[in-house]
Amino acid sequence: MNTHDPHPALFPASAVAPAPPPEFRGVTFHEIQARTVLNRMPGAAPCGMGWTLNPYRGCAHACTYCFARDGHHHLGHNTGEDFHTHLYVKTNAATVLRRELRTGKTGDQWVMVGTSTDCYQRAEARYQLMPGILRTLTDYRVPFTTTTKSALLRRDIPLYAEAAQATDVLVMTSLGSLDDRVWRAFEPAASPPRARLDTIRALRDAGVPAGVLIAPVMPHAGDHPDALDALVDACAKAGAVTVFPDVMRISPGARTWFLDRSAEALPPHLHQRLAASYASSRRSMPPHYVQQVTDHIHARAAHHGIPRWTDYVDSVRTP
Ligand code: SF4
Repeated sequence: MNTHDPHPALFPASAVAPAPPPEFRGVTFHEIQARTVLNRMPGAAPCGMGWTLNPYRGCAHACTYCFARDGHHHLGHNTGEDFHTHLYVKTNAATVLRRELRTGKTGDQWVMVGTSTDCYQRAEARYQLMPGILRTLTDYRVPFTTTTKSALLRRDIPLYAEAAQATDVLVMTSLGSLDDRVWRAFEPAASPPRARLDTIRALRDAGVPAGVLIAPVMPHAGDHPDALDALVDACAKAGAVTVFPDVMRISPGARTWFLDRSAEALPPHLHQRLAASYASSRRSMPPHYVQQVTDHIHARAAHHGIPRWTDYVDSVRTP
């Protein structure tokens, strides 16, 4: 564990919360008073997605491949264990959001909630920031998406249902494989695949648009066409309104963490293929491979009448 002060100018020592409850033993919560919570999407805004909002930094789900690990380095922590044991909590997120939305700064653009780290990670059970955020977005009728790997989101389904009456809402559950062995090896603190599918079903039953971020598709361990077909079929059965495929990318902060775990968890031949695919600081798979996987998933989704994410969002956007 990293023991030096994380970025003292931003997060004074007084912001460290007192001893956490037993279920969070080993976790240090850094409670932050944020000045702003809305961040502009870098570059062009795809499909009107102009802003991001992340109430937490660090993530107790601790997925080994997580690209957000790199951000922890900027806070003065290591990108391994510190990523899930030093959690930063913007305790005033809903209040600041309300202040920012009052100025009309988002216009008609969407806000993407939980793009960097999971807004329904375990810490949310303690801090309960999302209900206030959802009520604020609903009050200002701001279109938004939420992305998560956690069944904790089910707690807030009534709020999502209310929001969906007032504005455009899309909940994206992130699920890259139905295989419990992949879940246990690489994202064991996130909800199991079946629980994520049940969350999609519960959202749809409540009238909330819910799709699937099919991510990360793990080369060699989760990219067999039959496995991808079964995954898309399960998403369709759960009622997904759209899918967005994404093949695993490995950032520098996740590389060692991910490959060490892959060596422990996968059969040697699979680990070696995975390690070779991401060798020499390579972050992503070759474009033709990514295209092949993406096309395969979209084709299977189309078979069920499920549109790709860009088409879905364009179709629901208020003219
Ligand atoms: S749930 Fe998302 S943000 Fe959290 S560790 Fe996993 S990939 Fe990263």
